[in-house]
Amino acid sequence: MARKRILITGGAGFLGSHLCDKLIDRADVICVDNFFTGGKRNIAHLLDSPHFELIRHDVTEPILVEVDQIYNFACPASPVHYQYNPIKTIKTNVLGTMNMLGLAKRVPARILQASTSEVYGDPHQHPQKESYWGYVNTIGPRSCYDEGKRVAETLMMDYHRHNGVDIRIVRIFNTYGPRMAENDGRVVSNFILQALRNQPITLFGEGSQTRSFCYVSDLVEGIVRLMNTEGLTGPVNIGNPNEMTVRQLAEMVIEMTGSKSEIVHRPLPQDDPLQRQPDISLAKEKLGWEPQVALAEGLRATIDYFENYLSEAE
Ligand code: NAD
Ligand code: UDP
Repeated sequence: MARKRILITGGAGFLGSHLCDKLIDRADVICVDNFFTGGKRNIAHLLDSPHFELIRHDVTEPILVEVDQIYNFACPASPVHYQYNPIKTIKTNVLGTMNMLGLAKRVPARILQASTSEVYGDPHQHPQKESYWGYVNTIGPRSCYDEGKRVAETLMMDYHRHNGVDIRIVRIFNTYGPRMAENDGRVVSNFILQALRNQPITLFGEGSQTRSFCYVSDLVEGIVRLMNTEGLTGPVNIGNPNEMTVRQLAEMVIEMTGSKSEIVHRPLPQDDPLQRQPDISLAKEKLGWEPQVALAEGLRATIDYFENYLSEAE
């Protein structure tokens, strides 16, 4: 069978680069990225492959490429980065998704949109099922991302209903692993880097807010299954239901790194969700998927990555 041609936007980022790795054995991969938060470092090992192509491009502008599948992952994902230029974040989600849907319609190609647990906002339903509509502030500092992703989902469904575009929507819950950006401010990378540098661990609020952390290899497996499952548009939650407080995460990281770091408190950011846990019944039933990597195992691999990263930087 001929190799599929697959476009991955945001392919030089954390999740996108792991998707490139996963798909390159079976497909020709075209990675599109504007390098806002991603970097060549994440895909340097693929640059010599005859099955890999890198295009510097911003998805807010149209692009024409002949492909069979599109994974639309371009968008900064950490609050620090998506709030740096909120208008650009909205544009990336709205114009970027429209451009990719236009391409999917024209070529035609199947398109999978990286949506997020943030569409549930500060949820009043726990754990969150796909049927929950969410509780989201339209005018807060997180809205550029949350509402941007909600519009992206709406666009996906309207192109599907009105133009017959073959779509998939995945709602990704907090994912961690090697290649998270050093400066992106997300909790797992922050805590690990602070611990490895014996710097204070910055706990926002009391640290009683909860998250459920999924290791990147599990996430990517679920996403590829969704893309290649027939008759299912989604949205489908993909994440690890193993819920914990942010304080528990801090304590675990300190213990696993043997760090001398102390925990210090910083103000809880506005609209920071109090709790978050995916209900993954749909993914289990329709994709036969559930996470395999325990937190301790995934954190070990991530700590090893950052240890190596810091020693290279010295
Ligand atoms: P990331 O910041 O590491 O990757 C995003 C990539 O998109 C980067 O390489 C960046 O340079 C690129 N990009 C940003 N704006 C662009 C633009 N306008 N044009 C072209 N490229 C652009 O983040 P990530 O964690 O890999 O997230 C990838 C996708 O998954 C995002 O859409 C994000 O919203 C979604 N997501 C991630 C998580 C998570 O926990 N990691 C959770 C929910 C959703
Ligand atoms: N957080 C924290 N210290 C940090 C970074 C984040 O306590 O240095 C908290 C943050 O307030 C939130 C949780 O950790 O409650 C997850 O934050 P992250 O930015 O990783 O993702 P999101 O809020 O988008 O789930």
